[in-house]
Amino acid sequence: MATWQDNVRRVAPYVPGEQPQRPVIKLNTNENPYPPSPAAAAAMREFNSDLSRKYPDPSATELVTAIADVYGVDKDQVFVGVGSDDVLGMSFLTFFNGDKPILFPDVTYSFYDVWAELYRIPYRMIPLDENFRIRPEDYAVENGGIVIANPNAPTSIALPRDEIRRILDANRDVTVIVDEAYVDFGGESCLPLLAEYDNLLVVQTYSKSRSMAGSRIGFAIGSKEMIKALSDIKFAYNSYTMDHVTIRAGAASMRDVDYWKKMVAKVVATREKYLPKLQELGFTVLPTSTNFYFASHGKVPADEIFEELKKRDIFVRHWKKPRIDNWLRITVGTDEEMDALITALKEIIR
Ligand SMILES: *Cc1c(COP(=O)(O)O)cnc(C)c1O
Repeated sequence: MATWQDNVRRVAPYVPGEQPQRPVIKLNTNENPYPPSPAAAAAMREFNSDLSRKYPDPSATELVTAIADVYGVDKDQVFVGVGSDDVLGMSFLTFFNGDKPILFPDVTYSFYDVWAELYRIPYRMIPLDENFRIRPEDYAVENGGIVIANPNAPTSIALPRDEIRRILDANRDVTVIVDEAYVDFGGESCLPLLAEYDNLLVVQTYSKSRSMAGSRIGFAIGSKEMIKALSDIKFAYNSYTMDHVTIRAGAASMRDVDYWKKMVAKVVATREKYLPKLQELGFTVLPTSTNFYFASHGKVPADEIFEELKKRDIFVRHWKKPRIDNWLRITVGTDEEMDALITALKEIIR
């Protein structure tokens, strides 16, 4: 006999990094160690709670306008959502509706295959080369769409814009999504390519460079036609995704360009300072253009380092997955946090 359980949509969920609810040294989810813009903080503080009585602006116009102004694009080239996870999920639902498999690297953001499974989108993972690099020529095959994180995660390696251009040139007839979650830390954005490719969608987030992971703001910039398609799907699902406070604070943060550039520069300075220290301890570290390292130790297994760090209340990220199970992803924190990390690693590796 059939049961209700037979009709349940089942999917193996994405597993986010741990969020321990006590103070620890948290280098496991690539948050920014510095606070959000004071302008964003003021917008949150000064928010009139009576406004919560009313629904927010379903188009989040204030936020969309700030993003369009800062990036020099038209307002109808911008789509916003509840973190770039929301924007990316909506984009999969909108643009990947064919029978041919979509393509993404075998080692990349581990939400891509989850959305593909959820929406029953056929997909094929293209292996990175032996140095964990994306080979653009591998994407010159028949497909139903492409999604590339650039810089890639968790490898931290950036692909130059001209290499993305090669992927676009070989794929004029499908949607190409470039997930630029880490681009502000040293990647080359594909935004300048939008004028030439109406099938390109660039996705960015406030979670890393803008220090606002907790506010959940992500955005996509693309051709007007793409943004219209994306909006239609969003309004077919949930009109009011972003709340009043977030719209305000997000707009204020976006316009405070000098501030987030300064915070990014601090993170990059720390990244460069501690890279040789990790190497001295015997780590191989991939060339990073992000706010994290992807590192593997010559002698001590990654899972052991992961557990030992955790005992000392230092959280980093480790995946028990093919190809990367001997690697750790370590977020760049403050200098003080990195000092504590290095001290702990010295004990563990000795
Ligand atoms: C962090 C991250 C995201 C999602 O970030 P949100 O917090 O949902 O904006 C998307 N893609 C990659 C590659 C990321 O690392």
